[in-house]
Amino acid sequence: FRLHATPLEEADREKGGVVVLLRDVTERKKLDDMRSEFVANVSHELRTPLTSIRGFLETLLDGALDDRETARHFLEIMSAETERLTRLIDDLLDLSKIEERRVVHRWQPVDMIDVISRVLSMFRPQAREKNITLLSRLPSGLPVVQGDPDMLAQVLINLVDNALKYTPGGGQVTVSAAAADGRLEVSVADTGVGIPAESLPRIFERFYRVDKARSRELGGIGIGLAIVKHIIRAHGGKIQVESTPGRGSVFSFTLPAGEGAATLM
Ligand code: ADP
Repeated sequence: FRLHATPLEEADREKGGVVVLLRDVTERKKLDDMRSEFVANVSHELRTPLTSIRGFLETLLDGALDDRETARHFLEIMSAETERLTRLIDDLLDLSKIEERRVVHRWQPVDMIDVISRVLSMFRPQAREKNITLLSRLPSGLPVVQGDPDMLAQVLINLVDNALKYTPGGGQVTVSAAAADGRLEVSVADTGVGIPAESLPRIFERFYRVDKARSRELGGIGIGLAIVKHIIRAHGGKIQVESTPGRGSVFSFTLPAGEGAATLM
């Protein structure tokens, strides 16, 4: 709490006393801390690929350029790092647009079965390559929801992408949808590495990763789930996660069903 004491105006002074204002600044302090942590995280994440690119550039300039094969190898790494930087910046821009509610919405009735099917076909080649079975349980006659189809697709993309990333070959990823009490429930279940109980409450924070090294290796920077949470919230929905380390995870979200289920952004 911050204490403000202001003497009363000249005319009132004879009556004596001060006006005391109590204001809760703990919220603001928390926000400031989060902001500094965010900036520190972003700077670190941007610097890592840049340091690597600079290292390879210097080695090339120092003579490695003359060895064609080495040069090609270094350039490939630099290209991958550049891609990672681009992805990081794109994700950051997406997240800040969503957080500041600056996204243009195409608010309309959405058939989630369409969205899910589209996203699943997008990921089929990747699943096949990793030898992961990609299944869906989509009953007919599900209610439509109200929302932005591209943003809802983004939710599925991030969840399925994670499920495939954190599931070893031979595993299974299942996307299901069901109607429940005027809501539509969608879940993405995997048979992957799972998430330790102590990490579960933090999993939707920006930049939170259970295992930084592993996640970075997989191209992750810890923003995907923060984006998911914001989109679901903007649609008046809820998201939750259950997980057993070594067995797998289930991310499920609900959305208000029906054409009148519009929420304001
Ligand atoms: P990232 O880009 O690192 O995947 P996310 O925000 O999408 O970032 O996820 C945050 C962290 O949550 C990941 O780094 C990973 O540790 C964990 N995680 C997310 N989805 C899964 C999953 N399906 N199985 C296991 N761990 C997961």
